[in-house]
Amino acid sequence: MASRDYYEILGISKDASQDEIKKAYRKLSKKYHPDLNDAPEAEEKFKEVTEAYEVLSDDKKKANYDQFGSADGPQGFGGGSDGAGFGGSGFGGAGFGDFSDIFSDLFGGGGRSRQRQDPNAPKKGRDLQYQMTLNFEDAVFGKKTKIKYNREAQCETCGGNGAKPGTKPETCSNCHGSGVVNRTLNTPLGQMQSQEACPVCGGTGKEVKDKCETCGGSGRVEQKHEVEVDVPAGVEEGQQMRLQGQGDAGENGGPYGDLFIIFKVKSSKDFERDGSTIYYDQQISFTQAALGAEINVKTVHGKVSLNIPAGTQTGTTFRLKGKGAPKLQSKTVGDQLVKVKIKTPKHLSNQQKIALYALAEANGEIKPKESFFDKLKKSFK
Ligand SMILES: [Zn+2]
Ligand SMILES: [Zn+2]
Repeated sequence: MASRDYYEILGISKDASQDEIKKAYRKLSKKYHPDLNDAPEAEEKFKEVTEAYEVLSDDKKKANYDQFGSADGPQGFGGGSDGAGFGGSGFGGAGFGDFSDIFSDLFGGGGRSRQRQDPNAPKKGRDLQYQMTLNFEDAVFGKKTKIKYNREAQCETCGGNGAKPGTKPETCSNCHGSGVVNRTLNTPLGQMQSQEACPVCGGTGKEVKDKCETCGGSGRVEQKHEVEVDVPAGVEEGQQMRLQGQGDAGENGGPYGDLFIIFKVKSSKDFERDGSTIYYDQQISFTQAALGAEINVKTVHGKVSLNIPAGTQTGTTFRLKGKGAPKLQSKTVGDQLVKVKIKTPKHLSNQQKIALYALAEANGEIKPKESFFDKLKKSFK
């Protein structure tokens, strides 16, 4: 939300005066007021415009916004029922309810609740992502491996509360622990109740007077974390695995977030894979195809014998049962499909040529008298 450009929303330049800001807001809020505009996006626009005005019309917030791109923490609208301009004039209860929605994610919890969250409520830490690249065989068979990454861990010196050992965080004297302060704001549409994060405690409701020296009062430290990963057999490109509690530390005693491992699988020069099925192309000679043969075929499980029946055509596919990849979360293993391709010989010995000419002759493909075959035979005599 902080990334939205309030100046752009109001259609004014960065050096606009308070008068110009007010004028722009008045114009746009009339244009998008849900009572005056039936367009479905009007209400959203109205909220945007009001939010922008709420920040830019306040010198302190404007300064913060100009400097930090945020109006110093959460901005919210309270009940609104006592806002003279809004109360009766139709920007009804539902509309106001939605106001808190726009701001809810600023309050951290990410909860859908329209109630402001207790700043001292335990909050789960952030989830993290880790991309792991596996070679083809490791994805098929799985493996145990260790990974290292940086995460925010709870500070051990202060146990995460940010206070110097021997001291405790105290209830904030400014907001009395609520984390927010109320303010009445005058707008061209009347008075509005506004809530903002307590500037003293930053919305936490607690003040740390003596800060922990290890973490500087944040309660967290950057940690090089190592964790063992048991990659399951049969994992595929793009699949995810969740390691509970391996993300960032939580707040107010909340649990650690999770780590999501996203798998990438390198291709193999021999095999293709789709799920638990592995595909392999096998070259055979045309005599093997014609006469039949017992051949050895490469699989990820080692060489496997395959019977090629006499008269096999190129492109014929054979199935090697159980020689594919394991199915995830199952004890079964897929198959390997072997597609045979008949290889035409490029370099023939004289002996091979004689044999092939004999075959050609038997096929009636050449006339024996005029043939090179005759000369060749003579040369051997
Ligand atoms: Zn600490
Ligand atoms: Zn406070």
